[in-house]
Amino acid sequence: MVLQRVLKSLVEARLELESSVMSDFIVNMDKVMPILSPSSKRFLSILSILLDISPILSKFKPFTLLSSSKRKEWIREINAESLIYDIINTLDTVALAIYSLTPRFQESIGYNRLKTMREAKIEERDEKLTYKHKPKSYYDVVVIGSGAGGAIVAWELARRGFSVALFEAGPEPSTREFILEHPIIRALKYYWDNGLTFTWGTPTIHLPFGKVLGGTVTVNSGTLFRAPEEALRIWYKETGFNIDSSSLNSAYSIIEDKLKVKPVPESLLGGNALVMRNGSKILGLKHGPTRRPIEGCMGLGECAFGCPSSGKLDMRQVFIREAVSMGLHVFTNSMVRKIIMRNDRARGVVVDVNGVRVNIESKITVVSAGALNTPRLLRASGISNRNIGKHLHIHPATGVVALMDYKVRGWIGTMQSYYVEDLLTEYKTLLLATFPPPGLGYSAGSISLSDLYKYEYLASIGVQTSDDNTGYIASKQILGIANYNLSIIDLEKIKEGIILSSEILEAAGAKKIYPPLKKAHPASSTSEVKKLLKVVSPKIFKLSAYHPMSTARIGRDPEIGVVDEKGRVYGYDNLYIADASIIPSTTIVNPQLTVNAISLIIADSIAKEL
Ligand SMILES: Cc1cc2nc3c(=O)[nH]c(=O)nc-3n(C[C@H](O)[C@H](O)[C@H](O)COP(=O)(O)OP(=O)(O)OC[C@H]3O[C@@H](n4cnc5c(N)ncnc54)[C@H](O)[C@@H]3O)c2cc1C
Ligand code: SF4
Repeated sequence: MVLQRVLKSLVEARLELESSVMSDFIVNMDKVMPILSPSSKRFLSILSILLDISPILSKFKPFTLLSSSKRKEWIREINAESLIYDIINTLDTVALAIYSLTPRFQESIGYNRLKTMREAKIEERDEKLTYKHKPKSYYDVVVIGSGAGGAIVAWELARRGFSVALFEAGPEPSTREFILEHPIIRALKYYWDNGLTFTWGTPTIHLPFGKVLGGTVTVNSGTLFRAPEEALRIWYKETGFNIDSSSLNSAYSIIEDKLKVKPVPESLLGGNALVMRNGSKILGLKHGPTRRPIEGCMGLGECAFGCPSSGKLDMRQVFIREAVSMGLHVFTNSMVRKIIMRNDRARGVVVDVNGVRVNIESKITVVSAGALNTPRLLRASGISNRNIGKHLHIHPATGVVALMDYKVRGWIGTMQSYYVEDLLTEYKTLLLATFPPPGLGYSAGSISLSDLYKYEYLASIGVQTSDDNTGYIASKQILGIANYNLSIIDLEKIKEGIILSSEILEAAGAKKIYPPLKKAHPASSTSEVKKLLKVVSPKIFKLSAYHPMSTARIGRDPEIGVVDEKGRVYGYDNLYIADASIIPSTTIVNPQLTVNAISLIIADSIAKEL
């Protein structure tokens, strides 16, 4: 298969592996292939064909037939702003992830997760929340999607005694899978299209999101902040939605209480957070531990791939579990194809439950499929409103990596456990100490081969900005999951974040700093980083984003928004939306808590209608 041949050729050219390690790489590649969805395989195969034929004009041979040194030379000559370099980067990320599964790599950097898991003695839970029987033909409420929005609505309505069915396209994972499987395998299993979702525009931005029971929350980093007052002012200015801050605050408190949200304790901060803290102290910055849904966290650092120890409380462990005990029916591997509409009323859904298509009727239908899928489902169901799919905020993000002069072992400790807020007011940019498990983390700076093996000495800081610009999901989206161009203003805010991150890392003892550029550009100081940032165009930044929102926003009227302040779709009495798509505009900070809180307010309105 062309995909396997190209990945193997790429890894040969990039990593110069010995033959025994290469055979391990091939074994792991064969393990990964069956997990890829048909659309991911198609996507990666197209990229592989394009890469294979690209050198023919200049080198007269396809990529896979060039010698390893000629491949390397050809890659070096490619302009980092070109589409082909983006293709190489994407395939490189996949190849590096597969290589990271090899025992040789893990031993060479002192990363032994199975030993850590054994020592942690995590208790396996046998519990299944998925309903064992067929769905009934009628429910009071059908909820589509089990994430930050859907789980809360299902919980609140089940708690109040209504019959509720919750349909989730993704699977229900077991704790056994979380304990035994490498985070890379879990990323492939529990993210939509194996996590290979990108925006289309300048530059292309990696935009992963969950497809699993509990939604993206099951695989998110777990930082829970309330939206600042400034966000509420922006919402009002852009959409006329004037949220009552006392009801928002009381909804925040209910959710924080249930999720046991608190600052990360000192013992779990981990080496990467300490680098950020030391640097920030020296520079006199405003810093502190993040607030998280933390209980029984063992600092395993895998939150974004499903927490093995239930140390990050998510939608499954709190709201869905409690709702099931009160009668909620949960259906996993159940993709809703469309909402049945008749005379401007929603009558229920057409859903494939484990591959069997059924029609389920309901009094009220709630769409909670997330900001990227809710607009698609509304359109597929014939709902019309000019704002569907528009106003997309994503919070572009990136990461600065540094080689420190001491061991950090950044993957140990609570993931994303520390923040610096100095750029928040002026640039709406937050710095977060995040260090994903080795081999993961698309947005981090391109580390040179020799430094890849010094993983224990690496530290990284994530830069996340609240975007002024917006993108959209087209009715016929041909390439990418959404269209999005980074504006010059947002790029400048990100650059400020990269500079401050470099200063923090330098103050904490960095020997080398890797800004997030597509070609490896190690810098020895922040002033060198500044020089590198002056000359570059947006195309050569490595960016990712994790916070899509506002694609079916609340607005004062149907000219401005898709739903009213109760979450009801304009023009359709019994159709509601409760997820990140209705957030009127940017939340400035991480959005989960706000999606939870607003969904709780909407559930209350629905209960009054029932
Ligand atoms: C890697 C990562 C890290 C993050 N870290 C943080 C963080 O630290 N703090 C924070 O506040 N936020 C974080 N987020 C963002 C946060 O998780 C999301 O904003 C939030 O989960 C959005 O909630 P939602 O209900 O809109 O969608 P989701 O939580 O994505 O839930 C939507 C669900 O609907 C399902 N679905 C979609 N279509 C259908 C269909 N047709 N039929 C049935 N089911 C369907 C999906 O499979 C999914 O499970 C992170 C996101 C990512 C990707
Ligand atoms: S760091 Fe994250 S993955 Fe690890 S135990 Fe704590 S919450 Fe779970």
